[in-house]
Amino acid sequence: MDVTRPIAADDTGASPAPGRGAPKAADDVGRITPMMEQYIEIKAANPDCLLFYRMGDFYELFFNDAEIASRALGIVLTKRGKHLGRDIPMCGVPIERADEYLHRLIALGHRVAVCEQLEDPAEARKRGAKSVVRRDVVRLVTAGTLTEDSLLDARSNNYLLALARARASAEEDRFALGWIDISTGEFLVGECDRATLAAEIARIEPGEIIVSDAFYSDHEFAPYLRSLPAVMPLTRDIFDGATAERRLAAFFGVATTASFGAFSRVELTAAAAAVTYIERTQVGKHPPLSPPIREAAGATLTIDAATRSNLELIRTLGGERRGSLLAAIDRTVTAAGSRLLAQRLAAPLTDPAEIGQRFDAVSAFVGDGVARADLRERLKAAPDLARALTRIVIGRGGPRDLAAICDGIFAAAAIAARIAALPDLPRDLTRSVEALRRPDGALAAELGRALADELPAFRRDGGFVRAGYEPALDEARALRDEARRVIAALQVRYADTTGIRSLKIRHNNVLGYFVDVTAQHGEKLLAVPLNATFIHRQTLAGQVRFTTTELGELEAKIANAADRALALELEIFDRLAAAVGAASVAIQQAADALAVTDVASALASLAVERDYVRPAVDDSLAFAITAGRHPVVEQALASDGGPFVANDCDLSSPPPPHPPALAEEGKEGAGRIWLMTGPNMAGKSTFLRQNALIAVLAQMGSFVPARAARIGVVDRLFSRVGAADDLARGRSTFMVEMVETAAILNQAGERALVILDEIGRGTATFDGLSIAWATIEHLHENNRCRALFATHFHEMTALAAKLPRLHNATMRVKEWQGEVVFLHEVVPGAADRSYGIQVAKLAGLPASVIERAKLVLAQLEAEDRVSPARKLIDDLPLFAAAWPAAPQAPGDSARNALIEALVALHPDEMSPRDALEALYALKAQLAKLR
Ligand code: ADP
Ligand code: MG
Repeated sequence: MDVTRPIAADDTGASPAPGRGAPKAADDVGRITPMMEQYIEIKAANPDCLLFYRMGDFYELFFNDAEIASRALGIVLTKRGKHLGRDIPMCGVPIERADEYLHRLIALGHRVAVCEQLEDPAEARKRGAKSVVRRDVVRLVTAGTLTEDSLLDARSNNYLLALARARASAEEDRFALGWIDISTGEFLVGECDRATLAAEIARIEPGEIIVSDAFYSDHEFAPYLRSLPAVMPLTRDIFDGATAERRLAAFFGVATTASFGAFSRVELTAAAAAVTYIERTQVGKHPPLSPPIREAAGATLTIDAATRSNLELIRTLGGERRGSLLAAIDRTVTAAGSRLLAQRLAAPLTDPAEIGQRFDAVSAFVGDGVARADLRERLKAAPDLARALTRIVIGRGGPRDLAAICDGIFAAAAIAARIAALPDLPRDLTRSVEALRRPDGALAAELGRALADELPAFRRDGGFVRAGYEPALDEARALRDEARRVIAALQVRYADTTGIRSLKIRHNNVLGYFVDVTAQHGEKLLAVPLNATFIHRQTLAGQVRFTTTELGELEAKIANAADRALALELEIFDRLAAAVGAASVAIQQAADALAVTDVASALASLAVERDYVRPAVDDSLAFAITAGRHPVVEQALASDGGPFVANDCDLSSPPPPHPPALAEEGKEGAGRIWLMTGPNMAGKSTFLRQNALIAVLAQMGSFVPARAARIGVVDRLFSRVGAADDLARGRSTFMVEMVETAAILNQAGERALVILDEIGRGTATFDGLSIAWATIEHLHENNRCRALFATHFHEMTALAAKLPRLHNATMRVKEWQGEVVFLHEVVPGAADRSYGIQVAKLAGLPASVIERAKLVLAQLEAEDRVSPARKLIDDLPLFAAAWPAAPQAPGDSARNALIEALVALHPDEMSPRDALEALYALKAQLAKLR
């Protein structure tokens, strides 16, 4: 409905419910009431928001907004007046429940403009009977700009992300991201290219994304942008590069942004767009943002969206926190600590020195259990400083937020003392101690003196200032309370003089104070002589109500005293809030330090509790895990009582062969690939994932579930599951699997870590095998990265004969009385068979089916004596077509022969004597090589 057109409505509607106004409308077409005029004007200025129009104790919605909200919230749709002969739909939300309704509307993707009354209705009446209360929008509530605890998850950040594009050349687009958590003041900026854009967005997980109109309608990006939740296209001026620097500087009240760091133009554009949007949504209120921190490209481990969900880092494939890596490792005791842990897990580092600093902080707490326990007790009591601070600074804070600042500053000081007592403080903790001591103790003491022990939720409730803090307030309260006592005495006196024992003086919002008697006594007060004192106000079914001159005077006195008391309290509140605002930088830094301390000590607790070790992280291409475990499965098994079998993994780049002349030319430093075979349910997927998770944990600065670990920094992590295994994503199509595999083969470099689980499974056997085969070759020859590849195509193990850095490994399985027993142990070699029938038997397939399957298998095996893969290896010169062969180094073929001889050995089937002989033979072959 077009609300900008004049409405016509009748003025004969029922009078509004108490405390609940409604627009009065005129009955002649074309004329509208001043209130509707005001509504329409405000609505026109906020066309893409639902308008919450404040009327008394309600926010009212009209027209289309009312229809949308009543459907979304399940509240009654009423009507008020008419527009062009049709009823105006209306619905209302009581202010005390507004947060709850806002929450639901935002979750459904709506944006809400909150329009408040900016003056007392009495003020408006002074201007004349027809004047309308001044109103305006004080805030836009959008998914990315929330500040209330009731609208936010305490344990996760809620970012607004501004995305800007710079068109360097047709194929060289650069992108900048500026992201802000308004509720905590965090502000980051970074640049990326097209290949990593989606991964960056997946990492930040913004609650809302803003882009320019032009970018949003770009035919190339439109489909992607539209697939993201809560994307808001905005007019060009917000993304104007020419004014960006100036807008950003103005927001922070500085002359230039140079002191924040060197930003590219497109970074400035994104950062400025983010703050401009914050300014617009907060309508002039200035949240305490930290200056933007520039994140250097490549500073964090790139993990694309598919890998994140596949590895279940922050939540499971089912979307829950429970069962994720985050849930398994989270031992934090504060909301801010929990948020920081999630941030670190989402963005592991790539600089070994920085990672080492984080390990040092964890180590400091691992050593001293008593100090750790004590510290964590104190942390537990620390409030969420950052979010309380934001609310106070933008005028949305309550008394409890002030108390949080007070408690937080005291807690920070106590925690600083506790940490400072630890020996040999590492860098991060030294910094934390400094930051924790920064907020002014005098401010906290003042807050402590001012605030009462029991605090109301809202300022408007009053009663939060401690008695004795402010003499004028004490006086006003005494007056108010004294008058209440006088009223109590009055009730006794009236009961005596009238002889009505049951006479009561009561109070409600409509009548104020009144004398209340039952109907049968009412007659007496209405008659001479008592009617000279008692003035009739209201007759209800069983009750008659009166007032008296004396009561009226007392009531005015009480109201005055109460008003004065509240006004004084609000004044005190504003004074304290201003003092807190002035200290916001120090408070924010202390809040950050509390989070850092919480995370370091929580990771230390985890390490001690679950026996994790400090990994060595360096610039090499090593990946050597000794006795690694899966952090999530291990804990799940522990609660069932089962032991988790630890396994080694070594994907380290092999040492250069001796003499160096034998080195493959120009191909030093490539990682190993482990090819995992073994029956279903043997533990392949678990093993693959545990190694990826160990890399993530190490680079985020956590100890790892292993006996020892050495990891050369990984720059990109990829994990894919073949379509048939990928049920939970609900789109198990082979196409998706191939698109994702393509991304890996095109993007993974030497520092990448690649996990491929049953790739090629989503299609017919020969197709699948061929794709898996070619994929391994490409990984080995072109990507040259460290990789783990699980497959049920046993034929592929033959590849080890040709690919020197391919290592066959399998899951040990025991057959015992015809049953298969999984040992979950990774051993070198290839699975000789798939045990599919044994697994089927375990699963309870009917015995007749199992017997029949065995017969069929025996027949098939008899017909297929010569392995087709063996033939493939012989017939298909590996790299001939796909890429230029490496120059044949002398001795290459001899070395391959040696490897083949090794592969041909089956230690399990050899007698000790055979084994010894084989060893001699190998040594002899080696001698020829050297
Ligand atoms: P696959 O991929 O080979 O079919 P999974 O990795 O899915 O096998 O493992 C199947 C189950 O075996 C897991 O759910 C887990 O309970 C158990 N399991 C796997 N690895 C181990 C291990 N190392 N120690 C103990 N149990 C394990
Ligand atoms: Mg599996």
